[in-house]
Amino acid sequence: MNPAQGQFVLLAPLTGPVVALADVPDPVFAEGMFGDGIGIDPLDGRLVAPCDGVVAHLARTGHALTIRTTQGAEVLLHIGIDTVALNGEGFTPKVAEGASVRAGDVLIEFDQDFIARMAPSLVSVVAIANSDAFEVVDRARPGAAKAGVSALVVLRARGAGESASASAASAVTQAQTESHTEASASAGEARRTVTLAHAGGLHARPAARVREAVRGLDARVEVHFGARKAPIESVVGLLALGAGEGATVELVATGRDAAKAVEAAANELLREAHGEVEETRARDTSPAPRELPHEAASALPANTLAGVCASPGVALGKLVRWDNVEVEPVEQAAGTPAAESRLLDKALAAVDAELDTTVRAASQRGAVGEAGIFAVHRVLLEDPTLLDAARDLISLGKSAGFAWRAAIRAQIAVLADVKDSLLAERAADLRDIEKRVLRALGGSSAASRALPDEAVLAADEFTPSDLSSLDRSRVSALVMAGGGATSHAAIIARQTGIPALVAVGSALHAIAEGTQVVVDASAGRLEYAPGEQEIERARRERDRLDELRETNRRMSGEAAATRDGRAIEVAANIATLDDAKIAVENGAHAVGLLRTELLFIHRPAAPTVDEHRQSYQAITDALAGRTAIIRTLDVGADKEVDYLTLPPEPNPALGLRGIRLAQVRPDLLDDQLRGLLAVQPVGAVRILLPMVTDAGELVRLRARIDELAREQGRTDRIEVGVMIEVPSAALLADQLARHADFLSIGTNDLTQYTLAMDRCRPDLAAQADGLHPAVLRLIGIAVQGAEKHGKWVGVCGALAGDPLAVPLLVGLGVTELSVDPVSVPAIKARVRSLDYPLCRQRAQDALALESAQAVRAMSREAWPLD
Ligand code: PEP
Ligand code: MG
Repeated sequence: MNPAQGQFVLLAPLTGPVVALADVPDPVFAEGMFGDGIGIDPLDGRLVAPCDGVVAHLARTGHALTIRTTQGAEVLLHIGIDTVALNGEGFTPKVAEGASVRAGDVLIEFDQDFIARMAPSLVSVVAIANSDAFEVVDRARPGAAKAGVSALVVLRARGAGESASASAASAVTQAQTESHTEASASAGEARRTVTLAHAGGLHARPAARVREAVRGLDARVEVHFGARKAPIESVVGLLALGAGEGATVELVATGRDAAKAVEAAANELLREAHGEVEETRARDTSPAPRELPHEAASALPANTLAGVCASPGVALGKLVRWDNVEVEPVEQAAGTPAAESRLLDKALAAVDAELDTTVRAASQRGAVGEAGIFAVHRVLLEDPTLLDAARDLISLGKSAGFAWRAAIRAQIAVLADVKDSLLAERAADLRDIEKRVLRALGGSSAASRALPDEAVLAADEFTPSDLSSLDRSRVSALVMAGGGATSHAAIIARQTGIPALVAVGSALHAIAEGTQVVVDASAGRLEYAPGEQEIERARRERDRLDELRETNRRMSGEAAATRDGRAIEVAANIATLDDAKIAVENGAHAVGLLRTELLFIHRPAAPTVDEHRQSYQAITDALAGRTAIIRTLDVGADKEVDYLTLPPEPNPALGLRGIRLAQVRPDLLDDQLRGLLAVQPVGAVRILLPMVTDAGELVRLRARIDELAREQGRTDRIEVGVMIEVPSAALLADQLARHADFLSIGTNDLTQYTLAMDRCRPDLAAQADGLHPAVLRLIGIAVQGAEKHGKWVGVCGALAGDPLAVPLLVGLGVTELSVDPVSVPAIKARVRSLDYPLCRQRAQDALALESAQAVRAMSREAWPLD
């Protein structure tokens, strides 16, 4: 390869066979999303500079860097595939960001064997990141390349004529429609306006997702909102735009993939509220936070403060201040800027690893909402706006801690100006990562505090990491002067069942440490230094609720049948091995629904057959003879999986989800089924298929299951049931029941699809009620269809755990209720209080009512709540 005038050569940065870009085993590189280039399969562990230049970027995890050549080309050198997941292990960078290097200088040393074992592939990539400005005019043919010696590619700056046309193209016009504009792209720039559909606007999760949507595309994208703008890769920059729900923002992209980038970003932004799924769910499953009416607040009894309920319940205890330990880093750096920068990198890597562990632990516990919160914190840790600001300060001689704190505080100040409470609440997330990183820098360790029994913790606002390190067994309630019912701390409190009050106001700070308090979170009140009578009343109410729980728990091992003897199986919905144990402790007859999605999310790759088998076997063993209904993968729509890079869908709830995913990824389902079929003893598990719409799908899947069973030498027939969660399945239940062994009604989705109300939208939560007569009629039709073939019907949606719904579901002929493990005792108790003939009669009456409210009122009247 001989460069002509105006051309220059990049040498091979690695020794090994050359691989054509299209053959690199990762579509992101192979399709040129990182720019044009070439691959090498390295034979030794040294990455060297392919030319003279400056290290423009060094990945925190040491697996990749970008060199800016003296001509201005940005050359990405990426070692292995998916090696970011190794989190730095196996890589030893030999240069720092900003360093000047000569061709042949060693840049990174890496442990080839370790990476070959841990990553999907060692094939490494050289890509021209600014391929809009430089083009590859020649490249090495397949064959051996020697690091620092063999010529690999020849580059040339793209012609001046092209750049002129690119800049001319930037004068694009903007065509607006009511909800969005058409993408108007030409050679170098594309723009599109989008009206934000996310509940709460452009806050942390949608911001993080939109950033992901354009990752790898050759385009610089900015989001403009009014006079403000922010680069799309900066989550904090996007937050600071203050674009709330309904706001119209403009996406402006330049670069080769500009049109693709605005399209991908716009699609992400137009997806309604999917970033908020878990958070919203957490809200949905609890009584809606209640604002105290203004008059009520002014008419409060003495010694009482009003707040907003973030997690219901009644609690007593001594007030303990959990005020944030302020970490005061020194301002001036002790070492050189390079040394301080390294300290910051190390602290960021440590916090990132800590958060990764927290995310996994929360996922394992089934606390998907909590996992999502910390996953966003990981994104904030690599936010370029924060990092650039911190590094600037470091270069001016400030210490790493001081620089980090100042960068975060500057962003918090920007957010505080935003007139949107949901966005302003995200300042708490920034405060959280501020504290974590300062601690990692050795500023202070928040000494774990010895708590008294029944501590009512008070703080201005808790951060999620405060709560993750608490001794939860000693905490009876949380009270916050600030915060909001949608803050992440509130979500975690709800998930752990600790009563919590937010927005109590600064009067909270006037209450002395150690003061006795009564928190009636459900009523939005905190009473301090209460009289004996008030304490007694609160204690009685709390004790009554505790006693009831205890009685139900004592009886939980007994079977559940109505007073006149109709047996109802009360089973548990679980997602993890821990849940299985809790289900057994709470007297569940069986597992009515094992959601397997947790096995699929927060992982770099799909589980293997053996991983499936081991997970299900462990759960089956923990169930000690009880059966488990295991649902096959139900991802898509609200349940996303990191490694399943499906194209964004305009209507994900109506797209490739549940069993339909098997149409595009049959391998995933096959592996899961193989794992399931290997569980011992035979008969311990049944298979449940999600989102089935008609008998054809079921018949095809049944045949595939039988085929896989035969391959494994299994002779007995495994039971296969279908979820009834779309109206077509309910209406065709008689046809489905001919082929299925049982039906399980998923009322969460059945309600969503029957009423056309997104299950994740908090503003529709009150209306999207499974007790709507239309949903009840479909349940009735499903039961009748199953009865024709002598098959049983269960309910595994949230309605099964609703005490007002239980009598009506029983009355419609449902014989299994699968509920949260901790709800099993109460639902069994509810069943035992019922009379089947009355249930039947009232269920028929309910079908004739006109609204869910009317059904609820009727049920409450017939079967008052405890
Ligand atoms: C349902 O839709 O009711 C159900 C049980 O499934 P999921 O909530 O997991 O979608
Ligand atoms: Mg469902």
